[in-house]
Amino acid sequence: MKKSHIPRRTKSPRAVQELTRLAAGLAASGSYTEDIFWENRLGLKINAQLRTGDDQNLEKALEVLYDTDPAGYGEFIYAIEAAIECGTLTHGGCIYDVLMFAAPLLTWSRFSIPSGPIPEVILNNLREQFKIHLLFENVKFSLADYLFSPDQLPRGYHLTHELAGRLWAAAAGGQNLHMNPRQLAETGCFLSDTRYLLGAIAVPQGKPMFRWQEAIRTNQASNGVSGVKSSKQEILLTWKTECDEALRSLFQGCALELLLPDGFFSAWRMADRLARPYSMHATVDFLQSTLNIPASNLHAVVAPFHDQLLEEYRVSFTFRDRNDVLYGIVWALVGEEDENSDTVTKIETTLRECGITHITLLDNRFPLEYCEECGAPLFPNPEGEVVHAEFPEEGEKVLVHLH
Ligand SMILES: [Zn+2]
Repeated sequence: MKKSHIPRRTKSPRAVQELTRLAAGLAASGSYTEDIFWENRLGLKINAQLRTGDDQNLEKALEVLYDTDPAGYGEFIYAIEAAIECGTLTHGGCIYDVLMFAAPLLTWSRFSIPSGPIPEVILNNLREQFKIHLLFENVKFSLADYLFSPDQLPRGYHLTHELAGRLWAAAAGGQNLHMNPRQLAETGCFLSDTRYLLGAIAVPQGKPMFRWQEAIRTNQASNGVSGVKSSKQEILLTWKTECDEALRSLFQGCALELLLPDGFFSAWRMADRLARPYSMHATVDFLQSTLNIPASNLHAVVAPFHDQLLEEYRVSFTFRDRNDVLYGIVWALVGEEDENSDTVTKIETTLRECGITHITLLDNRFPLEYCEECGAPLFPNPEGEVVHAEFPEEGEKVLVHLH
């Protein structure tokens, strides 16, 4: 997560000062025992902020730490995310550990990508998949009956925490959570996009939540150790096949790749990271089939785009002998990535995997520019000018951002 560049009025300088002091104390701590001391106090303060229904103090404290204490900044983000997605809850006289999780799906289609309410029969089938392949035996959990697009995920800390609270309560009762579609934003129409299943898990305090937390069971009879424990990697492989089948009828005409469900923020970041190469492969497939040309006839132009800092790379696709940008994609920086990360190599490697050999890397410092008419990002052409992507008119009618 990166610093917000919008200057904000501080609501309570004292609260901001206390939050930054606790985060800095945690970052400087020299022992596990001292960590717990700072973590508990910081957690309480963050929870108090989340309950105010306002993110300003948390955001201001993040800004201060970003400028003064990078280690404290990292600890603070981690603590905010933990306070939002994890908690404890008393239900029927039992204390539960609760966790909001996300199950991301990468998808692309020349037609439209579904989002919105999940039909009951599919939701029931998904519940079975979660039970069998992912969650520890007899874990209570909830699923939201909605397929979320990135625009529909809650915006900001306290709204995410509010949704987590509803999912936690539903999980403790072993129920699904009904979402009102009218309260959710419109979904943008993209060639390639991410979808999320959201839910929560409730387990008696200290008990495991996921199958990969299971201890290795020893097989007494054979006098040896039989490894019945499944690693995250093995669970992901099963998940990809089994849950893909459960979702197939929703995603007709779409390519689909399931990622491993995990804590909300961790899964979200993983999806953001993997969506970039996924969308590049989707774009090159789309261009090849729609224009009926091999990838070797395409030229890719890669350039960095800055606000105050480097924010993203934009990658344009042109015919090899032309300057017009046919199509462009954004490769945003995710998590800790910044101008020192080797992002260009990752982009170049992915382009080559897609069969593109003609690549131009521009090192101009482009400002983040968008089309005034439609808001689409502008893309670099091979001559280093920033232009609007224009897909050829004689091409097929396709559902992409064109005007
Ligand atoms: Zn436009």
